[in-house]
Amino acid sequence: MKRLFLPSHALSFFKSPKASINPLMLSVLRSLLGQRRMYRRMSGGKIAVIIKLLLFSMASCRARSVPIRVLLKTVSPSSSSLCKAHTYTSESEEGFITQTHIGSAVKAKSNETFADVMVSNGNLYVFSPTTYTKKVRGKSFTITGKDNHLYLEGKPYTGSITFLLTENNTLQIINTLDLEDYIYSVIPLESFQSWPTEMHKVQAVVSRTYALHHIFNARKRNKSYDIQNRNFHQTYDGHHSFHHIRDAVDATKNLIISHTDNKPILAMFDGCCGGIVPAYMKDLDFKKAPYLARKKRCTHCKNYSLYRWSCDIPLADVEHRLRRHSALKKNMATIGILKDVCILEKDKAGVIHRVHIKGSRKNFICSGKKLRDSMKGKMWSQSFSLRKHGSTLRISGNGFGHQTGLCQRGAYALHKNNGWDFKKILHFYYPGTQFSFLKRRNSRKA
Ligand SMILES: [Zn+2]
Repeated sequence: MKRLFLPSHALSFFKSPKASINPLMLSVLRSLLGQRRMYRRMSGGKIAVIIKLLLFSMASCRARSVPIRVLLKTVSPSSSSLCKAHTYTSESEEGFITQTHIGSAVKAKSNETFADVMVSNGNLYVFSPTTYTKKVRGKSFTITGKDNHLYLEGKPYTGSITFLLTENNTLQIINTLDLEDYIYSVIPLESFQSWPTEMHKVQAVVSRTYALHHIFNARKRNKSYDIQNRNFHQTYDGHHSFHHIRDAVDATKNLIISHTDNKPILAMFDGCCGGIVPAYMKDLDFKKAPYLARKKRCTHCKNYSLYRWSCDIPLADVEHRLRRHSALKKNMATIGILKDVCILEKDKAGVIHRVHIKGSRKNFICSGKKLRDSMKGKMWSQSFSLRKHGSTLRISGNGFGHQTGLCQRGAYALHKNNGWDFKKILHFYYPGTQFSFLKRRNSRKA
């Protein structure tokens, strides 16, 4: 198995790993080595015991994992919550460590269990029940629970929360936490907590690889965060209490999927591929991501309800939805009454790229993606057919999502029916890939 080392631009963000020797072992060693007499009289056996203790102690050093910065919220300058004063309440049972980010960072500890961060007129303020409101020097402020846990707006988080006012006066709220804790938190939202451990292993490796891919890109571009907390990237909503998922995260710790360049792949994943062959998709750059060009069809997801789906929508409803789409409003204003929607361009995989919107006065061409976006909750993928019946449009399709990379329902069936383990499943859905072991320089093998 190959080792993947983080490049220097990625490492520059990381704090140096602190290897802390097990304190119990340290005290035993001190007591043994501190006594000169005993040292002189020590036999070879005793020395061997000490060496063993030292090795055991070093093995218990816990090198810090990679931190990930997750964007929880963006508040634009035009938003009323940024124009007027808005307060974000945080709670921590053990108190807080606060930190401003100017010059040499100013750190302060507090035993208060509440701390409020207020944003007003482009400034940050902090106050707690027993202290006066304090203006933060600079445009950034970080708060961490002393026990590494805190609640923000009632949601539990590990790690720290940073409030950052960017140059264009936009507020970003960013949670920085250990990558492994992040993976643990993501799994129940991107998969199903009731699924077997082997499936959690599949999701852990995929989500870790996906996250690391974004960490590399974000730090190359000097971004203030690595990944967003919503479905656009991976859904993240803070800590949870499905403890059994930790086993799958620990069992695959630091394991990622890589390609020939030994970097984490863009590990796309989705609910159900609907049986399409991604290698025939038109829009994907397979030169950059050859591992997404799977040629073997997955029909293992065929028992899932959205493998094939259809719905009948009155044309008047379709028209109403298209008019509400911000990018289609202008064209929709000129067409008169919607008469029909027809497919104009479909790739070999069955993905629709362009449709013809036909009105009583005018027609226009719209992308398949925009049509799908307009039909949220009715259309489940961009692989569909259209047929008009009187004043109703029948939309039939297959699959759920972008239908690329891992098919979660297919993977579940492959494990349940064929007994495949997580590695075999991942090799099937990301052909030509290998597994690598993430290892930070200066840290021991995890
Ligand atoms: Zn599938």
